[in-house]
Amino acid sequence: MSVTGSTGLELVGGGLQVVVATHNPHKVEELGRILAPLLPGVELVPDDGPEAVEDGDTFEANALIKARAAHQRTGLPALADDSGIEVDALGGAPGIHSARYAGTRDDRDNLELLLTNLGDGQDRTARFVCAAAWVDSAGEIVVRGEWQGEVADAPRGEGGFGYDPIFVPHDGGGRAAGELTAEEKDALSHRRIAFTALAERIQAS
Ligand code: IMP
Repeated sequence: MSVTGSTGLELVGGGLQVVVATHNPHKVEELGRILAPLLPGVELVPDDGPEAVEDGDTFEANALIKARAAHQRTGLPALADDSGIEVDALGGAPGIHSARYAGTRDDRDNLELLLTNLGDGQDRTARFVCAAAWVDSAGEIVVRGEWQGEVADAPRGEGGFGYDPIFVPHDGGGRAAGELTAEEKDALSHRRIAFTALAERIQAS
């Protein structure tokens, strides 16, 4: 990767450390797999500082809050994402509250509450949303990726995390995200869409 221009960064051959502002090991893994080919030479460093208070009203605001905090603490360029699932029949809930929907931060509790709240509703339209943010000394970039699909009737598959067992993407061949391999999910997901767009914006800046 070569990042120059208004970012003030230049990387040729050596490595550039970029801090990833998340404590979720699943996300660090997914991001590492997605970004390796997009930003070769970049070494992702998990953030070990305190979690920032995510009090924004949007995915984009919360991604920027996390990236700013990590950049200010470490001095390194920082990446962050904020993500969740929006269900149309629930007015977009759980949305930015996806991680704590059931109040326990437990993935299984969250998806079961979502299934209960949706009941046997006919409209099961949903999407995973990911806002991806980059903050360095030269400025800020934030972009959004969306992965469209439906909420399944019951959990399916052992893969992924969070709401993956109950999200059936339109481009997943009828399988739930929890039934996709990690490589299949990486190729399609909201995080893939957002971070591909972010990498393009970083390289163009
Ligand atoms: P965040 O860490 O504040 O971005 O919260 C994201 C929450 O949204 C996670 O805890 C999951 O419940 C859900 N989520 C985000 N991305 C995914 C995904 O790729 N699969 C399943 N659930 C996801």
